[in-house]
Amino acid sequence: MSTNCLFCKIVSGEIPAKIVHRDNGIIAIEDVNPQAPVHLLVLPERHVANIAEHTFKGSADEITSLMETAAALGAQNAGGFRLVVNTGTDGGQTVDHLHVHVLAGRQMNWPPG
Ligand code: AMP
Ligand code: ZN
Repeated sequence: MSTNCLFCKIVSGEIPAKIVHRDNGIIAIEDVNPQAPVHLLVLPERHVANIAEHTFKGSADEITSLMETAAALGAQNAGGFRLVVNTGTDGGQTVDHLHVHVLAGRQMNWPPG
């Protein structure tokens, strides 16, 4: 746990969140400021700052579970879905704990803003 990390505090229960899935060291919550009718965040319980900081080798199971969960939650939407991993300042990351956005329930636009 990283002491000043919002998502670590959600994982520990210190800050409340609507948890929709929890298994295999992965947690999925509803985004507090949804950008689509369905907007979930899927994250490892373990603190990892972002996808660029992740050491894939040795943690392959974690990445597999993360993406498997995100894809399964997205696939509950028959019309399709979008997964987004904002990384760093230019990537628009505002919470420095790796998370995958699951967006669905409306037509997505491209290019993203
Ligand atoms: P990002 O900007 O990619 O780092 O995504 C961070 C996301 O966390 C944003 O979509 C926020 O709306 C969301 N968020 C911030 N605080 C909370 C919270 N307390 N519970 C759930 N989602 C949050
Ligand atoms: Zn964290």
